[in-house]
Amino acid sequence: MGMDGVNNAVIPGKATPEDYVTEITRANDGVVNQRTIHQTATRGFDMVQRLERYGVKFEKDSAGEYNVRRVHRSGSYVLPMPEGKDIKKVLYRVLRQRSMRERIQVENRVMPVRVITDGGRVAGLAGFNSRTGAFVTVRTSAVILATGAAGRLGLPASGYLYGTYENPTNAGDGHSMAYHAGAELSGIECFQINPLIKDYNGPACAYVANPFGGYQVNAEGNRFVDCDYWSGQMMAEVKRELDSARGPIYLKLSHLPDATIGQLENILHTTERPTRGTFHAGRGHDYRTHDVEMHISEVGLCSGHSASGVWVDEHAATTVAGLYAAGDMACVPHNYMLGAFVFGDIAGTQAASFAAGASDAGTLPEDQILAAHELAYRPLSNPDGPPQPQVEYKLRRFVNDYLQPPKTARYLERGLESFERMRTEIAGMGARTPHELMRSAEVTFIRDCAEMAARASLYRTESRWGLYHQRADFPERDDANWFKHVNLRIDAGGEMEFLTRPVAPYIIDVPGIVRPDARTPAEAGAGR
Ligand SMILES: Cc1cc2nc3c(=O)[nH]c(=O)nc-3n(C[C@H](O)[C@H](O)[C@H](O)COP(=O)(O)OP(=O)(O)OC[C@H]3O[C@@H](n4cnc5c(N)ncnc54)[C@H](O)[C@@H]3O)c2cc1C
Repeated sequence: MGMDGVNNAVIPGKATPEDYVTEITRANDGVVNQRTIHQTATRGFDMVQRLERYGVKFEKDSAGEYNVRRVHRSGSYVLPMPEGKDIKKVLYRVLRQRSMRERIQVENRVMPVRVITDGGRVAGLAGFNSRTGAFVTVRTSAVILATGAAGRLGLPASGYLYGTYENPTNAGDGHSMAYHAGAELSGIECFQINPLIKDYNGPACAYVANPFGGYQVNAEGNRFVDCDYWSGQMMAEVKRELDSARGPIYLKLSHLPDATIGQLENILHTTERPTRGTFHAGRGHDYRTHDVEMHISEVGLCSGHSASGVWVDEHAATTVAGLYAAGDMACVPHNYMLGAFVFGDIAGTQAASFAAGASDAGTLPEDQILAAHELAYRPLSNPDGPPQPQVEYKLRRFVNDYLQPPKTARYLERGLESFERMRTEIAGMGARTPHELMRSAEVTFIRDCAEMAARASLYRTESRWGLYHQRADFPERDDANWFKHVNLRIDAGGEMEFLTRPVAPYIIDVPGIVRPDARTPAEAGAGR
């Protein structure tokens, strides 16, 4: 699997950082820390050039300029990677260069389960080898979490545990580890829900097809969204159409000329998901004769396409000293792959400098090591207990039953009861192999994320971000009370607590967004 392109490149001459920050602020109903978004806006182009030096190919026009496409509501930021299927190989080749190899030790099969802290700061990590089963501890004063989205939260319509929109190895490990380490998480009530191909766990890529003339239609053949780019608003429109007599919905391509369809097949069937062509062929479908039936994904937590995650500042720092987060699990809205690279770069630099200045972490606290050990190996003591797939299926069915928007307090509370009950069932789960232990640990992460998602959704008593946080019992957006971040963390007694953070002053004014906390010039003058 590869990547079609980067979704959010601010290329000089094509867009400005100000345009991009404005667009993302609007797409998130104003509740953003603009300084984080500004990092991706200003550093993304350097990253594109760096990737190019590594061998990644970006689409250029006949004049040799980057061929960015307009897909967002305003501005052109989508830069195709015609040979994006190779991106992982290209990056791996860089990692294997001698200068890197000599300084970086890659441990492929060690799965961390807990960040160990001491005195409120990072002291190390505990995990285990998912092949040998060996317990592993690491003493370090700095950790970067980059475990991607919490993508295995809702159950896909197919019912397959791993048929998720997101990479199914992403079970919310980092979200859970950050939480237990004491870090704040933010916007967890702002779910990720994406449009995808019905019965196929991948995006229909309307935004890829858009510049070629493809678009989403209902069963009557009418367009029902004015912009095919992802947003909670667009997803609300998709859900409304699916639930109406005008469903199902389709990605309309059959009207396009043969040559254009050929170009699209070349991108959609080779770059991102080679299985996509096989899937359509298996049904006897061809874009020339059949439009692509679309559906709606399960819920997840992801900043890449949405806005939730571990709270970070513009230096990728969490609220725990020495703990950094980057990519889809760090709360930088709509950050996508380029933002993951940018924040990975920032986190690496910051963590290295923090570690260089930190005193030796000393011995790791024994109680935390024992708890991590128990978390990892408990299923071995109960080998005949219910296996992970059964327990996980049940847990994620509850996520669907009670958390899927539109949300209501009654459903969310029923969800919480179920997630509390699942603690006992998870404790009784059985495993026999290191691989099963890995999957069992993931179920604990999924449960943690489900609880966070339910509690955060209950806390924000308004609707915001379209379908992502649509409360049927509080259907209106309430800027007067909720123009703020909702953050959660573990308290000293081990309970989940909530706090709010004001939206930091904008560094770039956004026309059309009137902050309820903005003072009039007269008030500002009076307060001086
Ligand atoms: C279907 C799809 C299509 C997309 N298309 C595009 C696109 O065209 N353009 C674009 O810019 N963005 C796209 N994105 C978004 C982009 O893929 C993400 O923003 C990006 O991959 C985030 O990088 P990451 O490193 O945070 O997470 P990931 O790339 O998901 O990597 C996280 C890694 O952590 C590993 N991991 C998880 N838990 C543990 C653990 N406990 N121990 C060890 N390892 C662990 C996982 O195995 C995984 O390899 C797409 C995403 C999806 C799902």
